Amino acid sequence: MPNNLASIVSSLSNRTSVSLARASLFKFVGLLAGVFLLASVSLVFLAQDLDRTEEAESAFYTQKAVQSLEKSLRLTVKDYAFWGDAYKHLHTQVDPNWAFVRQNVGSTLYADFGIQGLFVVNDVNRTVYSVVKGELKPVELAQWLGHSVDSILDKARAGAESETPTTAFVKIGGVPALVAAAAITPGTDPTVSLDDRLPSVLIFVDMLEDAKLQAIGDDFGVNGLRVATADDVDDTSRFALGDDGSVGNLRWISSRPGLRLLGIGLPLIGIAALLVCLMTWVILRRATVAALALDASYASLQKSQDALATSEARFRDVVEASSDWVWEIDANSRFTYLSERFEAVTGLSMNAWIGAAMDDLLGTESGTLSQWLSLPNRRPDITIQCRYVDPLGRERITRLSARDMPCKGFRGTATDVTEEVEARRRIEFLSQHDALTGLPNRTRLQEFLDGKLKAMPSEDSPLVMLSLDLDRFKPVNDLLGHAAGDLVLNEVSSRLADCVRHGDLVARVGGDEFVLILTDVSSQDEVEALCHRLIESIERPVAIDEQEVFVSASIGIAMAPNDASKAAELLRYADIALYEAKAAGRNTWRFYAGDMNVKIIERRRLENDLRFAIKHGELRLHFQPRYRIADGKMVGAEALVRWKHPEHGLIPPDTFIPIAEESGLIISLSNWVLNTACTSAAHWPNGLFVSVNLSPTEFKQGNLVERIQQSLDDSGIDPARVELEITESVMLEDASGALEIMRTLKRLGVRIAMDDFGTGYSSLSYLRAFPFDGLKIDRSFLNRLDESEDDKAIIQAIVGLGRALALTVTAEGIETAEQLKLLKAVSCDEGQGYFLSRPLDIEAFNTLVGVREKEVSQSDV
Ligand code: C2E
Ligand code: CA
Ligand code: CA
Repeated sequence: MPNNLASIVSSLSNRTSVSLARASLFKFVGLLAGVFLLASVSLVFLAQDLDRTEEAESAFYTQKAVQSLEKSLRLTVKDYAFWGDAYKHLHTQVDPNWAFVRQNVGSTLYADFGIQGLFVVNDVNRTVYSVVKGELKPVELAQWLGHSVDSILDKARAGAESETPTTAFVKIGGVPALVAAAAITPGTDPTVSLDDRLPSVLIFVDMLEDAKLQAIGDDFGVNGLRVATADDVDDTSRFALGDDGSVGNLRWISSRPGLRLLGIGLPLIGIAALLVCLMTWVILRRATVAALALDASYASLQKSQDALATSEARFRDVVEASSDWVWEIDANSRFTYLSERFEAVTGLSMNAWIGAAMDDLLGTESGTLSQWLSLPNRRPDITIQCRYVDPLGRERITRLSARDMPCKGFRGTATDVTEEVEARRRIEFLSQHDALTGLPNRTRLQEFLDGKLKAMPSEDSPLVMLSLDLDRFKPVNDLLGHAAGDLVLNEVSSRLADCVRHGDLVARVGGDEFVLILTDVSSQDEVEALCHRLIESIERPVAIDEQEVFVSASIGIAMAPNDASKAAELLRYADIALYEAKAAGRNTWRFYAGDMNVKIIERRRLENDLRFAIKHGELRLHFQPRYRIADGKMVGAEALVRWKHPEHGLIPPDTFIPIAEESGLIISLSNWVLNTACTSAAHWPNGLFVSVNLSPTEFKQGNLVERIQQSLDDSGIDPARVELEITESVMLEDASGALEIMRTLKRLGVRIAMDDFGTGYSSLSYLRAFPFDGLKIDRSFLNRLDESEDDKAIIQAIVGLGRALALTVTAEGIETAEQLKLLKAVSCDEGQGYFLSRPLDIEAFNTLVGVREKEVSQSDV
């Protein structure tokens, strides 16, 4: 589905057409309401404006009316005041008869003009003539008016010359009144002569009663003009009389045309709005019904659109969220579609590959991808592993699934499985290889061997198995640490791998044990040449931290089909041969021979026999005396174990001690030796000591100290008379453990001597660091003493060293008088050997010590 359609559907789906119709109608109603409101506001504004104009007009005409009132009163007073007769009868001499009775200035003014007050004030401002409401009444003007009239009189007199009357508004008993005053002058009458007094003043007072005001107002088109009362609210429809309305205000009835306009306009607008609302409601109802119908039909459309959109979204999510990319190719195997993930996963450009051949991108191990796709019976659920090269040049592996498309061509997914394949490969490798050296391990060896044996090796092209074991490797590990040991193993591994051909196998099957499988070796000479090469290459020093480490190797060889045809047998025979090689002095090789197996069986039997011998007291103990060389005095004896086998006769300890060590019998054997030696020696005279040999394996058992303590306790011998002989291999295996045990042993009170001194390589350093009381020079030095001057020097040096370290130096294996003489010459402390005495059985030894002092120097030297 195209994207824009989807977007329309999704946007539409948010709103129904009912709501859509409603929304637009409401908008329209809102607009109309706005218009009505505007019209109402304009109408109100217009009305107010009309009222304001009307008000201003009324005020203007009121003013006009007042002005006309003033004017007419002024004219009236002017007519009477500027008159010669009035001057004569009201100023020169006040003549009420002329004025009132003859009606010259009398009640007619009240009757005709409504002038309520008529006064004449003389030159000294005294009221001399007064008519009130048409009746002659002697009353003082100021009194009647209620306030001073001086300013009016002054103004009237000031206008005398120009015959100008004056007017003013006053308040009389709460009613405003218009006062007009004019100075009485002769006017144009030439018969009247002016006197030199101040002119008298004629004053008309017109009370502004409501009836009069209304009549004037009517004349000027102002309705209901009247004086404002205290009840009137203070609004603008008023006209102020006098200065600032101090006299009072005039009011009139405002026609308020604006208000009238509102009265008509607003209801009209209201009715119009009501009508519009009604119409809107009707339209809305119709629109809703129509829209509901539309929605109903739309909802069903929506449902299918939704389903489509959901499925599309799901597809998109799956396609983009998974690490897979989706592809489509046409009938010509060219890409027509690649999902967006393609670029992210492969790092390749989508544009570059659209239209390109699929086979150019992806390759399989068997044929091209298009071949695979067009296989007639290809199942769609079967995937294929393909390779391609990413932009960084690395090979990537992808798993491809494919399905036919109806319009020819294929579509499918591609899953990147590079990491998975690599991880599986790695796991496979690790499970078949040794983690340290990377060489194949026992599992791989087994597999390889099975495969090779299945191919049926023949006598002409046999399968050769070498079992190789490093000599002197353990000390490297112990002395230099495991890191150094690992380095040596790695170095040896690579040297071994270098010596064999491609197709052969070098496996590491144990700590320092290797197995080599060789094919394509025809003669025994060839095998021997290889063994020679192997040993030689291993013997080359290995450099570790500026130190050179030497190891060597022993090799046992077994061949198929001659020796065996089964993997297990072959391995066992190669091991037997290896054992033989080691027994033969190491650093060499041995071919498996039939009788080797016999020897092994023999050894097993011997082991059983030894177990029996220990249990049933077949062992004997011999004692070889040790003498002080200086004076030939016997100082003690070394206990040496003997085994007389019922069938084989006397078996030397060099033969059965290793068997005892290997089988674990050494502890019970040694216990017997210790007990027997201590018990025997406990009876010896002159503080003779007994020296007992300990096997290095006894140090590893943990309870050595307790065992010795037990023997000391059981025998009751003075611990100072017991010496323990240990070889340096004890220290080689676990120096710190050995040191601790030796210190504990020393606390028991026994002496400790280093046996076979000079055969190992670090004896000297041990001598200093460990609590030895003595050392025994190995008999191999004595053997060579006759021939080698060097050895003489060495013995001398050892004796000197022993002295320096306060150790008792004993020479072993003294066989000749010369040797003894020489040892005496270098002041060696003690000696032991056939020349002095062979090891003796208990009876013989007891007899000997019964003799007590055997003067060595006298009898033998
Ligand atoms: P070792 O401790 O060096 O014992 C001395 C060996 O030299 C003894 O051999 C002794 O008979 C032999 N010998 C003494 N004087 C001479 C001589 O002048 N010339 C020659 N060629 N040999 C002489 P043996 O008794 O056969 O013992 C061999 C080794 O067996 C001993 O060597 C010792 O390491 C071990 N061994 C013997 N008895 C015991 C024992 O009770 N316990 C343990 N753990 N090892 C023992
Ligand atoms: Ca010894
Ligand atoms: Ca020895």
